[in-house]
Amino acid sequence: MNAQLNALLENDTYAYDAVVIGGGSAGLSAALILGRSLRRTLVVDAGEPRNAPAAHMQGVLSRDGMSPADFLAAGRAEIAGYGVDLRAGEVTGAEPDGKGGFVVTLADGDAVGARRLVVTTGLVDELPAIEGLAERWGRDVLHCPYCHGWEVRDEAFGVIAHPTMPAHQALMVAHWSKDVILFLHTAGELSEHDAALLDAAGVRVERGEVTGLEVEDDRLTGVRLADGRTVARSVVFAAASRFAARDGVLRQLGAELRETPFGEFVAVDETGRTSVPGVWAAGNVTGPQEQVVNAVSRGYRAGAALNAELHFADLEARAAGRPVG
Ligand SMILES: Cc1cc2nc3c(=O)[nH]c(=O)nc-3n(C[C@H](O)[C@H](O)[C@H](O)COP(=O)(O)OP(=O)(O)OC[C@H]3O[C@@H](n4cnc5c(N)ncnc54)[C@H](O)[C@@H]3O)c2cc1C
Repeated sequence: MNAQLNALLENDTYAYDAVVIGGGSAGLSAALILGRSLRRTLVVDAGEPRNAPAAHMQGVLSRDGMSPADFLAAGRAEIAGYGVDLRAGEVTGAEPDGKGGFVVTLADGDAVGARRLVVTTGLVDELPAIEGLAERWGRDVLHCPYCHGWEVRDEAFGVIAHPTMPAHQALMVAHWSKDVILFLHTAGELSEHDAALLDAAGVRVERGEVTGLEVEDDRLTGVRLADGRTVARSVVFAAASRFAARDGVLRQLGAELRETPFGEFVAVDETGRTSVPGVWAAGNVTGPQEQVVNAVSRGYRAGAALNAELHFADLEARAAGRPVG
């Protein structure tokens, strides 16, 4: 433990009521409500939000079509208006300080003390290893019809089958276009039921492995198969092979995890409270299905719950004649 950390542990007063780790939609929303609750709050953000590759953000009421970067810049300006501190950087660890709070360490070697934590670090989409796919992610390789479906409606869709749910995405996006081809790629054979639904949806099926995507003038033009054929497509839908929660800090703190159909994620209650007293989590670090509005809403709940918990903890301490904070 370095000298700075020791000094922090010996100091009875905390620099911050709350440190929010991750300044995307969930984190900035938590910080906004904490700032408005007069809480000394720090947001540490590494600056890599999940939707950064997309030029536009859709489905966010009153901000539909705004760029993700502009949305987050507006959020940062709002939290600054309530005196919330924002630091660009990466949190590398957090540990209990033995006094009910936490010491948060940053990659630059600094350490910060806080009474409570909100972890909103998001996740990383680990993409199928198909040549050219990662480069087009969020542009014409898409993951979610609610985020992008309207913009590409009626275009020629290709869908790369997910190994565990091979038909699901193709069946879903068939609502947005009548021209859908499901590429089975490395998925096994379809169940009779899936085959019947694909048939009902008018989805054609291409067997065989996909080896790459064809691009001309910076636009997707086709899907290349191992047998040498190229199938013309202007849009590809693909799900991440794995959603890797950025949950290192939560694991270090010993937060309970839960098994979900999308992999292991931190277990939280309705307010985002984890199994570690004093630690909340919100947004995509708790699951891949939180879109921006959900992440904002969960961040809000976590911030409000954290504030209420601190307020009542301090009242209880005062009532019992114990030191506050
Ligand atoms: C291509 C694409 C397009 C999308 N389009 C839409 C859309 O149109 N509409 C919609 O509603 N949703 C969309 N989404 C989903 C959207 O990205 C998520 O809902 C949203 O990003 C979740 O917010 P979050 O705050 O949980 O995580 P993020 O936005 O990922 O933010 C997490 C932040 O924490 C930071 N961080 C991580 N680890 C650390 C650390 N250790 N220390 C400090 N900071 C850290 C990251 O750098 C990042 O800035 C899209 C997703 C993708 C992949």
